[in-house]
Parts: sequence; C-alpha cells; structure tokens
Amino acid sequence: MKILSEAGKNKHGQKLVRVECACGNTFIAREDNVKSGRTKHCENCRKKPAKKPVLAPVAETPSQYARGSVAWLDEQIKSKEAAAITAEIHVKNLQARMAASEETDLDLLKRWTAESAAFEKLNHQISRLQIQKAKAETATVKEHKSAAELTKEKIAALRGTK
Ligand SMILES: [Zn+2]
Repeated sequence: MKILSEAGKNKHGQKLVRVECACGNTFIAREDNVKSGRTKHCENCRKKPAKKPVLAPVAETPSQYARGSVAWLDEQIKSKEAAAITAEIHVKNLQARMAASEETDLDLLKRWTAESAAFEKLNHQISRLQIQKAKAETATVKEHKSAAELTKEKIAALRGTK
C-alpha cells in the first residue's frame, strides 16, 4: 500500500494519510496503522473472503484405454504435461506479480506456494508415468516374445522332438 499524501488529523490528534490500496482504491487511514502494517487494504479488499488457491488439476483423466496400458499411460502423460504447462504459467505470472508489488502480498504468496506445489507434483507424476510406460512397453515386447516361444514349444511338442 502506498501513502499518497498527508490528510490532516482525526479528532484524537492522530495523523491521517491518504493511501492507495493494491486494488487502486484510495482512502484515508491513520498513519501509524499504515506504517505498522495494521491497515493493509481498503475496506473493499478487507471484506473479500480470502481467495482459495487455484490448484492445477491433478486428478486422473477419464480414458477410453485400459488403465495401465501403454496408450493409457501415454494419454495420462500428455494430459499431465498440459496441466504442468498451465501450472508453470500460473507460477510465473504470480512471481511477476509478486516482483511488481512493493510489499509482500500474502494472498499471492499463498497462491504461488500452492501452484508451485501443484507444478512439482505434476512433474513427479509425469516422471512416474514415464517409468511405468517404459515398463509397460518392455512387458508388451516380452509378452509377444513369450507367446512366440510358447508356440514354438507347442510345435516342438507336437512333433515330439522336445
Ligand atoms: Zn482495495
């Protein structure tokens, strides 16, 4: 909050100042309250309920593919990557807003913390999914191989050469 000008004294002889809230509203407040940080916002901003941090979606995406299949994992990775990009943009925007404001805005800081956590969680989930996908791909190859081997064994058994 910015002090714009002095605004005389109240009836108790306390100094008053005209200040500008982060939202752009200007109002008169006691100078000591402004300087001590007791008055931080205009009445409008004080009345607003604290905004809940907006979290990037981390829930599982509904899918047409079988859970755990390579295609399913691929789809999950793509949707989480998209969410991670969104979260990263939020984080950067909040950082820019925090850098631009003169004093620490606790609401911004809370949202930044939540978004950063969401971003990290998504990245963690993505790397886990990628490992799962690599495993699923290897397993698919193995399955084909073993099926082929089984067939070979069956043929060998039928021929009685085993
Ligand atoms: Zn305000």
